[in-house]
Amino acid sequence: MGERIPAKNEETLYVDLAGDHDKVYNRHLSNGKFLKLRRLFVWPLLLAYFLTPWLNLMERQSVLFDLPERKFHIFWVTFYPQDGILLAFLLIISAFTLFAVTNVFGRVWCGFTCPQTVWTQIFMWLEYKTEGDRGKRMKLDKMPWNVEKVARKGAKHGSWILVGFLTGLTFVGYFTPIRELVVDLATFNAAPSAVFWVMFFLVATYANAGFLREQVCKYMCPYARFQSVMYDANTLVVTYNEQRGEKRGPRKPKVDYREQGLGDCIDCTWCVQVCPVDIDIRDGLQYECINCGLCVDACDSIMDKMGYERGLISFTTENNIAGGKTKFLRPRLIGYVFFILLMAGALVTTLVQRVPMEADIERDRNVMHRINNAGQIENPYRVKIVNMLGDTHRYELRILDNDQFILSGDTSIEVEGGDVKEGIILITVDPADINRLRYDIEVEVRAIEDPSLVKIIETRFMAPQVR
Ligand code: SF4
Ligand code: SF4
Repeated sequence: MGERIPAKNEETLYVDLAGDHDKVYNRHLSNGKFLKLRRLFVWPLLLAYFLTPWLNLMERQSVLFDLPERKFHIFWVTFYPQDGILLAFLLIISAFTLFAVTNVFGRVWCGFTCPQTVWTQIFMWLEYKTEGDRGKRMKLDKMPWNVEKVARKGAKHGSWILVGFLTGLTFVGYFTPIRELVVDLATFNAAPSAVFWVMFFLVATYANAGFLREQVCKYMCPYARFQSVMYDANTLVVTYNEQRGEKRGPRKPKVDYREQGLGDCIDCTWCVQVCPVDIDIRDGLQYECINCGLCVDACDSIMDKMGYERGLISFTTENNIAGGKTKFLRPRLIGYVFFILLMAGALVTTLVQRVPMEADIERDRNVMHRINNAGQIENPYRVKIVNMLGDTHRYELRILDNDQFILSGDTSIEVEGGDVKEGIILITVDPADINRLRYDIEVEVRAIEDPSLVKIIETRFMAPQVR
């Protein structure tokens, strides 16, 4: 990387908002290839976030994290706490995918899909629609309070609060049935905890996307601190071509600027004005840069106006800048991909082998053993069956490979989809058939309609002292 060039952005104006933080007046960009690319990511993600809880599948909400019932409904499958290993695999795969993507494309997660970036973009768009572009907003902030200022500020904050409320409502709607939540909120019957969390996310969204914005990326996000360890000389980063751009400065039309010792940068500061984290990329690579590409779009539009070649600011790699070639396949990336494939294989194997039912048999610890009216030795047990599928199943219980023991009680239990049922079973034996204090017994729990839904549980039978 070349010698750092000090920022020179006299034309970038700031207004003090609260004394300890300069308000950033971003310029609105309406065109550009990275802007379009971001829209391609943002819209599907936003629609998925806001609409998913409203979709119903199999007579229940399609995605619902039911914490009190400890059930996590995700489309057609219901997960239980015992499926935690699947979640662990998914988290590891997600983390390593992020590392691999960062290794190739830099911080594109931050620039294109991170919720902080996405919601900040929505808030900035609402700000632009209600208060106008950069210059108008600066003027509005400086003017004394009047009807126009109250109306514009009111519309901006009103729309922010509405988006914050919808964000909070949707988020809570992933944890409590959203249709009931809306009715309960509208009729003032919602649980205090639901109201608290909706308000919490409203305030968090309003504050983070409306006011803190780039401060979250710069000072609060831990990912910004360690993402550089995933970078190498082949990672795509947004870079200002110093050799081509310097010496920067304004120029007169029809005068050969090169003869005046000027480069292609006209020092318009548009790249700074559009930057959501308020940095000047001409100062060199900075950890705050989220690789959003807005400065690339802004500068390309200036290059077009000037009739210069595009790409004064571009996505490129350290190797390219040094005149070398960018290698796509490199050991670190291969390592990340290998690990992702390994974990994906483990996840698929676990999923394929996963039996979507759980069964547990627990001996009644209050009763060691007892003699029933027929003179047989009897042990009581509590049985619990979890049906992780969406449809109802009837499960039958039987003792395996042990003819002298007899099973009775709730030996046939019907469990609705995504539900848990409990029952009591008894194992009895004729005293003449036993000669030990303890027996290990295997009980099979099998769905009648689908024999693949089966669990074999080992339990213990306790007998009295044999004389
Ligand atoms: S947008 Fe391009 S021309 Fe304008 S200041 Fe930035 S680098 Fe220079
Ligand atoms: S420097 Fe450019 S790419 Fe980096 S955050 Fe600012 S606008 Fe986005």
